[in-house]
Amino acid sequence: MNSMRLFIQLRTKSSLLFQRTLYTENIQDLVSSGKPSIVWNADALHGLSKEQVEFRQNVRAFAEKELPEELVTKIDADGHWSDFRNFWKKMGEMGLLGITASAEYGGLEMTYFDHLIAMEELSRRAGGIALSYGAHSNLCVNQITLNGNEEQKNRFLPKLIDGSFVGSLAMSEAGSGSDVTSMKTKAVKPNANADYYVLNGSKFWITNGPEADVVFLYAKTSDKGITAFLIEKDMEGFSVGQVLDKLGMRGSPTSELLLEDVKVPEKNVVGKLDGGVYVLMSGLDMERLVLSGGPLGLMQAACEYAFNYAHERNQFGKPIGSFQLLQGKLADMYTKLSSSRAYLYNTARALDQYKSSVKTKPSGTSPFTKDCAAVILLLAETATQIGLDAIQILGGNGYTNDYPVGRIMRDAKLYEIGAGTSEIRRWLIGRELNKEYK
Ligand SMILES: Cc1cc2nc3c(=O)[nH]c(=O)nc-3n(C[C@H](O)[C@H](O)[C@H](O)COP(=O)(O)OP(=O)(O)OC[C@H]3O[C@@H](n4cnc5c(N)ncnc54)[C@H](O)[C@@H]3O)c2cc1C
Repeated sequence: MNSMRLFIQLRTKSSLLFQRTLYTENIQDLVSSGKPSIVWNADALHGLSKEQVEFRQNVRAFAEKELPEELVTKIDADGHWSDFRNFWKKMGEMGLLGITASAEYGGLEMTYFDHLIAMEELSRRAGGIALSYGAHSNLCVNQITLNGNEEQKNRFLPKLIDGSFVGSLAMSEAGSGSDVTSMKTKAVKPNANADYYVLNGSKFWITNGPEADVVFLYAKTSDKGITAFLIEKDMEGFSVGQVLDKLGMRGSPTSELLLEDVKVPEKNVVGKLDGGVYVLMSGLDMERLVLSGGPLGLMQAACEYAFNYAHERNQFGKPIGSFQLLQGKLADMYTKLSSSRAYLYNTARALDQYKSSVKTKPSGTSPFTKDCAAVILLLAETATQIGLDAIQILGGNGYTNDYPVGRIMRDAKLYEIGAGTSEIRRWLIGRELNKEYK
């Protein structure tokens, strides 16, 4: 076993039990280290445990080594990364692909809070790669962990977790995004005795679609019923359609998926027949929290870059950061970053504690459903705004592709659309609030 992986496993086991040692002993060292507070303050300020701080440091070191700035810029320009699969193996060796999965299948059995820290750190380096990571480790691996049966877990999780397989989730279709239950992809049993379904239709905007070995896919099994299926790359009739050329998240491969008379064995049905909506709902709160690590990492990267720049670039004989208008912008960016992080971390902590205290199978609803939606709504919109602010601080340089802030802003915008739009999130939060007054 990779020594880093073993280290992470040993250091983080206790986090499951909420034996949180607050990170205080090193604060004094950090304060006197001369590092700006934007780099060191987060863990001390937001009460991370010692184990979580070490976990973050490990993921950060890994991401900085494997995803250097020049490589990330090249991937963004090319919209493709030929080394994607090798990188996946390295993530598998680190244990990052199965953070919330059981150790029985190679997972680390850590919390959703820990998972979002990994998402945050990968996003701080490369938003697109991190989006692919979120789709794989949360939307696919965690959904199998929550809803798969033993046989399915044994068959798929070890390879998804060690990085031999890439996973994805396919729900959206060209004609049904926000209104996802209007999907047209159909699964039909040819006769009552058949032990397989025949799937026809197509899916659109699927993260990791071009690479995926396993697709957690939803299809209609009756007029109103939706069922979840595990589709395997080599199934006859299953293919990758057009690969999408995107504004941002260009390090994350996205495509259409086509299903033409694909025979899917009954044993690949996840959960109950017509129980797809339940399966979908079961992971939503956690999906929103883990994915929120994405905009948080992007904001962190934008602030770090822009704050440095503001103190290195001189105009009128002074660093531009010393002018009051820019000083105000830095203050607003820092305030937005820190308050976003506080809401996300607090909600993640609360959800993990709730999950560990509820002994029944986790269901979609928790007391924090509206907060999970509010967290991702807030962070997604704030990350785009901070990306735009960073471009403004860099002036003409910010508007070129020679500096990373443009990429960060383009990557951030996705989080206002993918995995549910801001409008749908507002609608859900408003509906939940209204329910409380009935
Ligand atoms: C890069 C990327 C990756 C993605 N990855 C995946 C993936 O891995 N798997 C997957 O299944 N899907 C994925 N998606 C799809 C994504 O979830 C959808 O794009 C999203 O749900 C929005 O659907 P839509 O694009 O059809 O927009 P539409 O639903 O057509 O919405 C268009 C606009 O209308 C607004 N709108 C719609 N309905 C309402 C309403 N009732 N009230 C107010 N406003 C409304 C929306 O908010 C939006 O502003 C991805 C998308 C992108 C861009």
